[in-house]
Amino acid sequence: MQPSVIETIGNTPLIRLRRASEETGCEIYGKAEFMNPGQSVKDRAGLFIIRDAERRGLLSPGGVIVEGTAGNTGIGLTVVAKALGYRTVIVIPETQSQEKKDALRVLGAELIEVPAVPYRNPNNYVKVSGRLAEALARSEPNGAIWANQFDNVANRNGHRETTAQEIWRQTEGRVDGFVCAVGTGGTLAGVAEGLRARKPDIKIALADPMGAALYSYYTSGELKAEGSSITEGIGQGRVTANLEGFRPDFSYQIPDSEALPIIFSLVQEEGLCLGGSTGINIAGAIRLAREMGPGHTIVTVLCDYGTRYQSKLFNPAFLREKGLPVPDWMEKAVTIPV
Ligand code: PMP
Repeated sequence: MQPSVIETIGNTPLIRLRRASEETGCEIYGKAEFMNPGQSVKDRAGLFIIRDAERRGLLSPGGVIVEGTAGNTGIGLTVVAKALGYRTVIVIPETQSQEKKDALRVLGAELIEVPAVPYRNPNNYVKVSGRLAEALARSEPNGAIWANQFDNVANRNGHRETTAQEIWRQTEGRVDGFVCAVGTGGTLAGVAEGLRARKPDIKIALADPMGAALYSYYTSGELKAEGSSITEGIGQGRVTANLEGFRPDFSYQIPDSEALPIIFSLVQEEGLCLGGSTGINIAGAIRLAREMGPGHTIVTVLCDYGTRYQSKLFNPAFLREKGLPVPDWMEKAVTIPV
């Protein structure tokens, strides 16, 4: 029997990152989450959240799933929802990449763009999606639920039960360290929980972009953010329910100037075109490798594919506008006017 679309979510390959491994004397591997059908790590969260709601009897055929998302969770939810006979209503900050908004539209999500305002503002996309779900639960004939990826621990539990176990099997138990960035914290806290249960002395590290508050939280106890990042889908300002009870062994704050050259070198030297959060993750893996010393096996996450950011990360005019260096080859290869 060949698999359904849903059965192709997860069980992604673990790819050896050649340059990062050679530079550190460690084996650095990336979990190829961009190979999921919705092309990101968030297909897993979409699937776990919908299956959990079904188990609780909260979803009926034709029901609506509402979510606030930087895009990838909306894509993951929509792929799964369409395959199972549900609808999605997705609230996205207008600052997110056009490619992700287009992907949501062509997948059949009902898309609502809102201004990007901080979480404390009642018009923040997450809060708008929560209110909308409440209203739709009353008016929709087949009901509506709020996926609530940030505080719904079905997200974290799913990573504990699948992503962590896959990494354990794929490294044959040799994994010594795991590191990634946080959007909801589902990936980091879930994989940490799953791997720590198998190997209590494994080292878990947070790779935080500038503009996020968790690096400061885990190093000084204070939620404080400084600077900014062009990465999308990561950079958390609070301790979400998915992060409750979790603590990393190490925390790193990674500027875009460290992450972007890694992304560009992967394109040119390894045939991998990946999104900005993956650059933060691999920079974090390199820092953890240096911290632990040569000979260790370190795993991180290749979150999504680079074409999702063609108009930003791979656009010389955008990079220049942000004061970031533009690699020579990109000037020749990409000509998108802005
Ligand atoms: N990278 C990208 C591109 C994402 O969209 C997300 C999810 N928002 C993450 C990383 C972080 O994953 P998580 O929500 O599990 O922390």
